[in-house]
Amino acid sequence: MRILLVEDDRMIGESVRTSLRQDGYAVDWVQDGRSADAAMSAEHFDLVLLDLGLPGMSGLEVLHSLRGRKNSTPVIVITARDGIEDRIKGLDAGADDYVVKPFDVDELAARIRSSLRRSSGHAEPEIEILGVRINPATREVRKDGKKIMLSAREYAIVEALMLRPGAILSRAQLEERMYGWGDEIESNAIEVYIHGVRRKLGADFVQNVRGVGYFIPKPEPT
Ligand code: CA
Repeated sequence: MRILLVEDDRMIGESVRTSLRQDGYAVDWVQDGRSADAAMSAEHFDLVLLDLGLPGMSGLEVLHSLRGRKNSTPVIVITARDGIEDRIKGLDAGADDYVVKPFDVDELAARIRSSLRRSSGHAEPEIEILGVRINPATREVRKDGKKIMLSAREYAIVEALMLRPGAILSRAQLEERMYGWGDEIESNAIEVYIHGVRRKLGADFVQNVRGVGYFIPKPEPT
C-alpha cells in the first residue's frame, strides 16, 4: 500500500512517515500543494493524507484538482483543532475522513485502514481467498486457520493482490505498493518475495502471467 503524505510541518511529517513505515506502508512525503498536485497527477497512490494549510496551493485546492480529474483515491484531511469550517469544506470537497491536530498515530492508522477497506469495496475487515485469510487491521495471515508469518513486503504483495482478486498487477504496480521514493528498489526483489509467498501460502496461490504480472485467482462464486 502506497501513501502520499502532504504536510509542511517537518516534525509532524517525520513522525507520521516513521510510524506509517513501521506499519509497512510505502510512504512518499511532499511539503507543498503544487508538489502534491503534481505527484497525484503522475502516480498512483492508495491513499492521501492531506494537510489543508499548505504553502503555494492550499490543501482544498489540491483536493478540488484531484476530484476534478475524477480521481477517487481516498483522502484523509489533516486539520487544525479550531478548523471546524475547514473540516466541513474538506468533506464537501470530497475528502473521505479527517483527523484533527494534534492526532494520535494509532488513531490515524485506524482511520487509514478503514478508508482503505471502504475504497477497496470490502466492508468486512477480513478478506479470505482460497483458504488464505488476511486481516488488514492486524496484518495477521492465516492459511486453513493456521497462522502464517509474512515479512512486511511479502504481506504488501499479498494484500495488494487479494484486494483485487483476478486482476493482474504488473511488477511496477507491485513495486509502487512496496516502496516509497526514498527506498532503494532491489532488482529481482519481486521474484524473491513472490517465491517466499508461494512457499508459505502454496505454490498456486499467486499466479504469474509471463511478461505481464501476477494475480491471485478470483474464487468461483458458490
Ligand atoms: Ca500546515
